[in-house]
Amino acid sequence: MKVLVIGGGGREHAIAWKLLQSPKVEKVYCAPGNGGTAEIAQNVPIGVNDFAALAQFVKDEGIDLTVVGPEDPLLGGIVDFFQERNLPIFGPNSKAAMIEGSKSFAKSLMKRYNIPTSAYESFIDYESASAYVREKGAPIVVKADGLAAGKGVVVAETVEEAEEALRQIMQESVFGEAGARVVIEECMFGEELSLLSFVDGETVKPMVTSQDHKRIFNDDRGPNTGGMGTYAPVPHMSAELVDTIVKTIVQPMASGMAKDGIPFKGVLYTGLMITEQGPKVVEFNARFGDPETQVILPLLETDLLDIFVATVNGELDGLDVTWKEGSAVCVVMAAPGYPGDYPKGKRIDGLENTTEGVTVFHAGTKQTDEGIVTSGGRVLGVVGTGADLEQAREAAYASVKAISFEGAQYRTDIAAKAMKHQQK
Ligand code: ATP
Repeated sequence: MKVLVIGGGGREHAIAWKLLQSPKVEKVYCAPGNGGTAEIAQNVPIGVNDFAALAQFVKDEGIDLTVVGPEDPLLGGIVDFFQERNLPIFGPNSKAAMIEGSKSFAKSLMKRYNIPTSAYESFIDYESASAYVREKGAPIVVKADGLAAGKGVVVAETVEEAEEALRQIMQESVFGEAGARVVIEECMFGEELSLLSFVDGETVKPMVTSQDHKRIFNDDRGPNTGGMGTYAPVPHMSAELVDTIVKTIVQPMASGMAKDGIPFKGVLYTGLMITEQGPKVVEFNARFGDPETQVILPLLETDLLDIFVATVNGELDGLDVTWKEGSAVCVVMAAPGYPGDYPKGKRIDGLENTTEGVTVFHAGTKQTDEGIVTSGGRVLGVVGTGADLEQAREAAYASVKAISFEGAQYRTDIAAKAMKHQQK
């Protein structure tokens, strides 16, 4: 089969890499791809939101399946566009993707299906939002309703901070339309965990658990980023806990959406807080996480193409999805200055120096005559695998040290906290 992967980040490199391990996959294309996908697949210079050009390319090349990485085209309706043309595509349609595109929509579904999450209200006018904040007191969480690239959320320690966030989002419109509505939530406390699941409309097949490191600096300091590193599975989260999450959250969400005529097909990403009252939902995303995918897929035993096909056809129930023993750790190497402004075009050296058990997934890179150069904020995700977290972590960091580009920055504490848990 020929497969087109839409996107150009580390997540898409990992998807392409895993697909190519399937004996049934003859060729993978990536639109637009990056310097890493260029080495294993064929990059196609079409933007992720140019649906007509993508569909035409699929028809011209006789591509059998398209897989969508990022949220933007999903919310824009790429799945609906392809389905109208009878082109098989993996991902939720635009209505189902709204669980990521609108936080108030996601919250209203959770309320309807009795899924544990923080108490909330949504507002479209500043005065009532501000009155609600004063009534509830701090800490309290203020969120722009729409997509704001992870920046539209303020966990406010004081009422003044929450009101300032409301002013910026609702009056100064710093996130544009995404902030026309806000969601104000009760603050939850506990450890965060991600559980991604394949969902074919009704059947749920959970993946291994993972944890992201959002802040730029060690010890979770500094501004938020797209994610500076991940590990999987999370050793102190038991199989029973995963069972509880599937039974009380993921399955009710999938079944409820199917019943309401908006069946979700694709990857359902559940961001959770493990509170004293049990697991509660922080957010849903309608796609693979980045950089969670880079640690999850190396641990997948089952043929990824089989999973994609079964999901599209609504046949996941009959497929056994299994996982390898062991752990994976991803350390993101970022450009200097990221998540603020950063230079591009810096030569990357040492990519050939990686050791066994290590895979380097490219994010912001491109191929040039002088070799691979940087072209984005998050540049590489260096993934180590091993029998346990310690081995995986050592492998990842040994390779990180062998790779260089000017001003490269990375955290040195990815998975460190989890290892302490494991040793207890
Ligand atoms: P991203 O795109 O970065 O995943 P997002 O914009 O979709 O983020 P959320 O995931 O809803 O936003 O929130 C971002 C972070 O804010 C969470 O990972 C969590 O740490 C914190 N947070 C969100 N909601 C709450 C809450 N109700 N209580 C405590 N912390 C919260």
